[in-house]
Amino acid sequence: MEKLLKKLVEAPSISGFEDNIRDLMKKELKGHVSSIKVDKVGNLIAQKGKGSPRIMISAHMDELGLMVKFIDKDGSIKFETVGGWDERILPARKVVVYGSKGPVTGVIGTKPVHLQEKDDKKRPIDKKELSIDVGTDSDKETERLGIQVGDFITNHGELSRMAGSKVTGHGLDDRVGCLELIEVMKSVKKFKGTLYAVGTVQEEMGLIGVRGSMYGINPDVMLSLDTTYAKSSEMKPGEVNAELGKGPVVEIKDAMSFMNPRIKNWVLKTAKAKGIKLQYDVSSGGAQDSSVGAITREGIASGAVSTPTRYLHTPVEVADMSDVKNVVVLVSEMIKNAGKYF
Ligand SMILES: [Zn+2]
Repeated sequence: MEKLLKKLVEAPSISGFEDNIRDLMKKELKGHVSSIKVDKVGNLIAQKGKGSPRIMISAHMDELGLMVKFIDKDGSIKFETVGGWDERILPARKVVVYGSKGPVTGVIGTKPVHLQEKDDKKRPIDKKELSIDVGTDSDKETERLGIQVGDFITNHGELSRMAGSKVTGHGLDDRVGCLELIEVMKSVKKFKGTLYAVGTVQEEMGLIGVRGSMYGINPDVMLSLDTTYAKSSEMKPGEVNAELGKGPVVEIKDAMSFMNPRIKNWVLKTAKAKGIKLQYDVSSGGAQDSSVGAITREGIASGAVSTPTRYLHTPVEVADMSDVKNVVVLVSEMIKNAGKYF
């Protein structure tokens, strides 16, 4: 599984430009589903089986990124952020700009500490003061690399193994969910009902892609596979419940929704029967694709099972592969017994 996660992390895709990861997921799902299509906004919809219940599982294919806004006379690039960035951590970072002639490595530069005024050191740098240096000296030279306004930019970096079964990389939110979605479709060989696996677009822009796909599919149940905050040493006790390596997280409440009670019952009973330990998230920040279920059509029963992840929305997200495995086992089992609940 870690090999496939590495490929997913390293497939350059940000919100609005999900083509690379979508192609990879399509390739992985082929042979494990009966049909695959891409809808008008780019959501990947794979289907298996026929009849009731109609179950949709989803994972978002996009991650945070940047976009070329303006090319300066000195060749440097002014950029716009795409998705919910912590802008304090933008400086001194390696990025990749995807122009028409292929990827170009760049850095978000920052004034050396020797030249900073006393006050500079105390204040976060506004993104408007930052530029990307791709090593060119003029706008013409940057343009000759195939770079133009509107091109997308990703974090530079690959998936790395840490101690135990922990991994770190950018975009684990929600490459981890994409991996789980693929593995669940591989593990559920036969399903008495219709199972849809949807890779959604533009989740980080405000849960955009999922709305049309959920409306179109009109499932009886919708379950998102996403990531959620996990405890790290910067947090105060009680700030976050979930910890790495302690199992799938049941999203009881987020900033805009509650888990549907029938889904909660389904998750809890299945986990108990399989002996899988669960964690619970009750928070007022963040949302995922399932958060718009209750306001889609006449209301669709929806909820999310998340993988605990440290340092969300940074290029050094950390997850534990043991949690990923447990999410796959739990969700596969839930699907197999869905007929008892819906
Ligand atoms: Zn996410």
